[in-house]
Amino acid sequence: MEEKTFSLLADFCGVTKQLNKPFCDGKYTYASDGKVIVRFPGGEITEILVCSPGISKLRFEQSGELVPLPELPKETKAICDICGGQGKVTICPECDGDGNIYYSTNNHEYEWNCKECDSAGYIPGDEEVCPECKGIGKVITNFKKSININGHKLQLGYLRKLSKLPGIKIVAHPVEYQHYFKFDGGDGILMGMR
Ligand SMILES: [Zn+2]
Ligand SMILES: [Zn+2]
Repeated sequence: MEEKTFSLLADFCGVTKQLNKPFCDGKYTYASDGKVIVRFPGGEITEILVCSPGISKLRFEQSGELVPLPELPKETKAICDICGGQGKVTICPECDGDGNIYYSTNNHEYEWNCKECDSAGYIPGDEEVCPECKGIGKVITNFKKSININGHKLQLGYLRKLSKLPGIKIVAHPVEYQHYFKFDGGDGILMGMR
């Protein structure tokens, strides 16, 4: 695997123990922070980590037209809205860092955005360095701000992240809130807001 690819994967890793390194299933190598997942064909990374069970629920399929990302608002320095500017966070106790709340009955599984943390997975606290501002307290984006793509809400912070991928295009309409995207060399899914 190319160095370039590897550093790109590192950019998309999360901070929790299960997600702080790329992982592979033999066919693809993945990186995810729980809200956005990217993958590259090939599994030749040194360590094979067990895939999170949720991965089988992801729909890596292009179910419609791919469109370029919309023009994003200009980057301005702002107080980090994940940690409130203090640079440290605590994993959200309500959703356990996932950003979503799950509830299942015999027949159905329900999932919705965690209100406690606005689906960021973190609240201001003192446990970990804030993953968004890396402890600086200021960021060039407001993570929680949402942007519309064809009427579907997505978080600006994630779109900025995606905008750095070469040749990025995203599906016009998501399937089950999963926005499939493609870029030069790989593809992935961004979870939309409910
Ligand atoms: Zn922060
Ligand atoms: Zn939460």
